[in-house]
Amino acid sequence: MKLVLATHNAHKVEELRRILGDQLEGIELVGYDGPEPVEDGDTFEANALIKARAAAEHTGLPAIADDSGISVDALDGAPGIHSARYAGTRDDEDNLRLLLTNLEGTDDRAARFVCAAALVVPPPVGALGPDGPPDAAESFEHVEQGNWPGTVLREAVGGGGFGYDPIFKPAGYSVSAAELTPDEKNAVSHRGLAFAALMPVVREQLLG
Ligand code: IMP
Repeated sequence: MKLVLATHNAHKVEELRRILGDQLEGIELVGYDGPEPVEDGDTFEANALIKARAAAEHTGLPAIADDSGISVDALDGAPGIHSARYAGTRDDEDNLRLLLTNLEGTDDRAARFVCAAALVVPPPVGALGPDGPPDAAESFEHVEQGNWPGTVLREAVGGGGFGYDPIFKPAGYSVSAAELTPDEKNAVSHRGLAFAALMPVVREQLLG
């Protein structure tokens, strides 16, 4: 049974392969190099569904996708769903610098990483909608969300991870997310939690 991983972000692919690990037994995770949809949703959930729907429609296969970012209390939740292009480029370093600049002189450093993980299973070919043809039968859609609370550091620390990891200190830790091993991060992270909740639904849908 094939499952498409609808992301072009190499860091996420690597992290997700590790997170999904043994939960993929009986499922072949395949990459996606089809068209990237416009992510014009207002929420992490909406954008995760847009990505998973696009991949499911393009391939005709079940697809999973995530949409994630960092939400900072003192910035009213920004950069939030705009995290990947906060500085106007897709450059992690530029984004991280801009966030530090926008928080200069701010003592309220509370923030959280958020991840919405979506599954879209297209209807079998030839399936009929509730009113018969020409309606298409509906896809199965499901979304789960994970949150990882913490604070924004005053400077980047650590060489691991990606994105905003070097300036994020998870609650309960004295190191940045970029100083955690991949397994330490995945056990508690927004992405780890969202996909831990989604995978039982994936297995039920694909394997019954
Ligand atoms: P997306 O591909 O639209 O979901 O973009 C998510 C963006 O949020 C990434 O480009 C990163 O900048 C940031 N982000 C999401 N998850 C993480 C994480 O686990 N660590 C660091 N940054 C993250």
